[in-house]
Amino acid sequence: MKYRVNEGCIGCGACTFACAQVFSMSDEGVAVAIEEEVPAELEDAAADAMDGCPVAAIEEAD
Ligand code: SF4
Repeated sequence: MKYRVNEGCIGCGACTFACAQVFSMSDEGVAVAIEEEVPAELEDAAADAMDGCPVAAIEEAD
């Protein structure tokens, strides 16, 4: 599983707290996801981060 943050991100930071290993804040003040496949041990936390995004800006990527 990979994730992508779309242009709807409002920079709230919630995903970085939910799963800091996958999501971080860019210099532009929006979240970015790691480009690599999410490791199995982080899949639950990353999914929680996606579900917790207040504007549904986190998408599953191929
Ligand atoms: S939780 Fe959603 S809106 Fe907030 S920083 Fe992450 S992607 Fe952006």
